[in-house]
Amino acid sequence: MKFLVLLLIITFIYLLFFKKREKRNSEKLDRDIEELYPCSKCETLVSKQDAIVCGNKIYCSKECAKSC
Ligand SMILES: [Zn+2]
Repeated sequence: MKFLVLLLIITFIYLLFFKKREKRNSEKLDRDIEELYPCSKCETLVSKQDAIVCGNKIYCSKECAKSC
């Protein structure tokens, strides 16, 4: 009986840990997809922080943004 309880606890902890990890991974993936935009000129994928926004277009660098 003690063994069974221990097994249940271990299973519970394992599931909890596994679920947490899975959730974190998918969240990270969603965030990566969300933050990457193709440059309007050269189509390089840039993150939201690095992107240069000009009107409704997104550029990867100042050089690409020159044509805007
Ligand atoms: Zn570019």
